[in-house]
Amino acid sequence: MAEIIIAGSGFAGLTTALQLKRHLGNRTDHHILVIAKNDQFLYRPALIQVAFGTKSLSDIQFRLSPVYRRAGIEFFASEIVDIEPKTHTVVTRDRRFAYDKLVVALGEHLAYDEIPGLKEYGYTVCSQQGAQALADVLPRFTGGPAVVGWAQYAQTGGPSFEVALELHHYMKRRQLPGSISFVDPLPKFWAPAGEKASSYLERLFATLQIPRYGPVQIQEVSRDRVILADGRELPSQLTIITPPFRGQPAQSGLAAGQPRNWLETGKDMRSLRYPDIYVAGNATAFDGPKQGHTAMLQAEVAAHNLALDLLARPDERRQYDHEMSCVLDLGQGQGLFVRRSLWNTRHQVVKLGRRWPLAKSLLEYTFIHTPVFKQWGVPISRLTR
Ligand SMILES: Cc1cc2nc3c(=O)[nH]c(=O)nc-3n(C[C@H](O)[C@H](O)[C@H](O)COP(=O)(O)OP(=O)(O)OC[C@H]3O[C@@H](n4cnc5c(N)ncnc54)[C@H](O)[C@@H]3O)c2cc1C
Repeated sequence: MAEIIIAGSGFAGLTTALQLKRHLGNRTDHHILVIAKNDQFLYRPALIQVAFGTKSLSDIQFRLSPVYRRAGIEFFASEIVDIEPKTHTVVTRDRRFAYDKLVVALGEHLAYDEIPGLKEYGYTVCSQQGAQALADVLPRFTGGPAVVGWAQYAQTGGPSFEVALELHHYMKRRQLPGSISFVDPLPKFWAPAGEKASSYLERLFATLQIPRYGPVQIQEVSRDRVILADGRELPSQLTIITPPFRGQPAQSGLAAGQPRNWLETGKDMRSLRYPDIYVAGNATAFDGPKQGHTAMLQAEVAAHNLALDLLARPDERRQYDHEMSCVLDLGQGQGLFVRRSLWNTRHQVVKLGRRWPLAKSLLEYTFIHTPVFKQWGVPISRLTR
């Protein structure tokens, strides 16, 4: 019997746990334990709606422990402070756990320490606390220049476009004076989404008079301005910038020496250093966008290959194929859908239309409120393809 620990229970951890259990079935005596900071699954893509006051946190969360209980998986809520690969131990604030196989799915750490003033004077929609703080401050925002965007090393750009557009419509509806500036570090506007999506967004932002400053890094944020690394200063009464991403401190023991504390894997999602460890989701070292979609695809691959290891089956191992897939909510009922392979040319889809925001809402509702994924174990990535 093997003791399998899954560290983290976001898109990657939850998918890995449910898929692994399916692959192993009830006949094996392998034991799966999921450890996460708390008993709530947070549907992070909907944090923008929390920030703009159209949803509450309770609308976009569900409890994890009943899902795991039904699936025959053990769940323990505690903060992981360290992982010791030499002794095969996961150290939490409450207890130490030994593992035979480990899946690391801890998401990303928001590295506020890399930009002075960002934590004090900036807002973000990337965390529960950030979205709540923005929801609190928005009703008191009386206009003035605003700066929206994402910082160097942040690997989720989509939310910043949505925030800029949402803020534009919010200010217009309330007749608030002022303008929005957009900052980002990539060579082109939303470069990973490809030429067509990039130039569409460029035209849209130009029409709405949201100028883009980029590619540029952010040096510092103060009470009333954003200071760019090229020396320019943008006045700002409201700064909403996604902080740089880094691997979680809890995975430092595994990452030692790897850039920005990420964990390197092969395409089979197995750690390059530790054969008993798999990694999925934002915790991985892959370049390019970090998404719920990519997290779930990686988790499916990790679960499949780990099951083969455990069952000693010689079947073909699955390989992850990096791709982004998302709907940008453009406001006023419009949406931009992009599905793009990042390592080959297999998928190159860009579509504009009113059905995409509806599809996005439907997916969110299905994920949070129905048993399709949690009880029936349908890999939700199948619904997003
Ligand atoms: C506003 C916004 C909009 C987005 N829109 C989209 C979208 O439209 N489409 C899309 O595909 N993606 C979108 N994303 C990205 C997506 O939400 C993330 O890529 C995804 O959440 C990553 O999944 P994950 O499982 O790797 O990490 P997470 O979802 O962050 O989960 C990490 C898990 O690890 C746990 N954890 C972390 N540290 C510890 C610790 N020390 N001890 C114990 N547990 C710990 C957490 O509690 C959590 O359970 C969006 C993100 C945001 C913020």
